[in-house]
Amino acid sequence: MPEAGESKLKKILSIVGASAALLVLAIVVLRATLLAPPDAGDLSRRRTVIDTKTGEIIRDFVIPEDSTMPWTNPKTGEKTLIQGEACYWTKDGKAKLEPTYVLLNEMTGKPGPTICPDCGRTVVAHNPLPPADLLREAKKAAENK
Ligand SMILES: [Zn+2]
Repeated sequence: MPEAGESKLKKILSIVGASAALLVLAIVVLRATLLAPPDAGDLSRRRTVIDTKTGEIIRDFVIPEDSTMPWTNPKTGEKTLIQGEACYWTKDGKAKLEPTYVLLNEMTGKPGPTICPDCGRTVVAHNPLPPADLLREAKKAAENK
């Protein structure tokens, strides 16, 4: 009985279709609720950037979606914004809580290692933090001020 087979197939297809629709619905609901707390996407796209021309430091700069460095400075309209590398060292070998933001030479096409203008240490991409005890000390010092 070919018709019976056909209707069975239709039944299966309608079940598959219904579950696919349910799945899509579930994804839409998830996206709208759990997966998308209001500013999460925004937060992860915030960086401290430095204008290579003016030296201006912009904190919490929101990286435009699907964009690559250098980013456009909204003030000048020029593509001169590069991510700054944070250096938490002080000149006397202690840690500080407010970092100095440094432009990496490799980002700006300059040769050689990048030296922090504040502490004189070499700054690298994903610049490591000072040891935890130094940071704790800096925090304590700031609290006692
Ligand atoms: Zn430094």
